[in-house]
Amino acid sequence: MTQRKAGRHFLQIPGPSAVPDRILRAISHQTIDHRGPDFAEVGRGALKGMKWVFQTTAGEVVIYPASGTGAWEAALVNTLSEGDRVLMYETGHFAALWRKMAERLGLEPEFLSGDWRSGADADAIEARLRDDRGHAIKAVCVVHNETSTGSVSPIAAIRNAIDAAKHPALLMVDTISGLAAIDFRFDAWGVDVAVSGSQKGLMLPPGLSFNAVSPKALAASRHAGMRRSYWDWDDMRNSNTNGYFPYTPATNMLFGLNEAIAMLQEEGLDTVFARHARHGAATRAAVRAWGFQVVCQQQGQESGALTAVMMPEGHSADAFRATTLQHFDISLGNGLSKLADRVFRIGHLGDFNDAMLLGTLSGIEMALAKAEVPHETGGVAAAMAVLRQETAAPAAAVQPRSGAADGAQDQRRR
Ligand SMILES: *Cc1c(COP(=O)(O)O)cnc(C)c1O
Repeated sequence: MTQRKAGRHFLQIPGPSAVPDRILRAISHQTIDHRGPDFAEVGRGALKGMKWVFQTTAGEVVIYPASGTGAWEAALVNTLSEGDRVLMYETGHFAALWRKMAERLGLEPEFLSGDWRSGADADAIEARLRDDRGHAIKAVCVVHNETSTGSVSPIAAIRNAIDAAKHPALLMVDTISGLAAIDFRFDAWGVDVAVSGSQKGLMLPPGLSFNAVSPKALAASRHAGMRRSYWDWDDMRNSNTNGYFPYTPATNMLFGLNEAIAMLQEEGLDTVFARHARHGAATRAAVRAWGFQVVCQQQGQESGALTAVMMPEGHSADAFRATTLQHFDISLGNGLSKLADRVFRIGHLGDFNDAMLLGTLSGIEMALAKAEVPHETGGVAAAMAVLRQETAAPAAAVQPRSGAADGAQDQRRR
């Protein structure tokens, strides 16, 4: 028998994030008939609520019982034809995985190389599109919040780059770890297909993923030649109009999703984004006070969802993570592919507050000493100074936003 550990585990990986009790309770409800009369309200509520989360009125949302990777595939197979050229940008591990998928599916991805220390470069994308006079490139695919590095790509600037080059390519954005943590505006930023997942900013367990689809992407899907069945948008949309799904949806996850949407509406998206940004700033202050480097080197592109930290030369990030887990019951994210063992990642996304952040950073600072990793002390104090300076959410944020009424839940359930 393993030794019982008292207190709550700190799940500080950048997804899955810890699931709040309200959502756990919502999920722990008897499964209902997904073709029965009660289900339609659940389905319609989730679809409508997710449009609000994506900040779209012009677009539509599709919900899959799948991990984020499934929604990546759905974005590609619904809009493109075999042999199509797609322009992708190497922001890090997740961008590389999406490119590999495109290749496997028979597309021809072109990868603009990056150093894994910043978001996608809008100027480089514009230059490449200007060269593509024959419009062979059918889509530009970028990762909004690159979870392997903690860098954010400037989506609005990339939209402007595509427009400046007068290029008709679709703009596809992976915001799996960005949505509901850092600002993402589907309509305002002219995104054509957005991809997201349940287990990061949305505070749910893994198991649901999403596409938001613009009218232009929908039009493209009518001519897209790639074979698709499970991921087909039309099957989904036909059933979704009445609040139903073409196959068995993840019913209990949808109960949880509706609770998550209600929680986001009660807090307000702007407050959610400000909270994440503030926690990112405090975390970076701690990292720098320890004398370490943040992986993202581009000022203004640092993520509010997670911070990736360079381990000092000669020290194993994985051995350090084992120490934080063993002694402080904190799970930190590992370095991925070329950053393996050189980087650890601190997730500060989802249902998270100042005291939880300070607990996490204190555990890390204690573990640095325990693991005998050379560092300066005072990281936690530096984070506290940032939290004191930058005031938390404005008082107005405790009021539900207008329009939140349909998602508002009994406050006593908190
Ligand atoms: C988590 C994540 C993925 C993969 O999602 P899965 O749910 O693991 O399939 C893809 N892209 C980004 C940016 C992610 O953070």
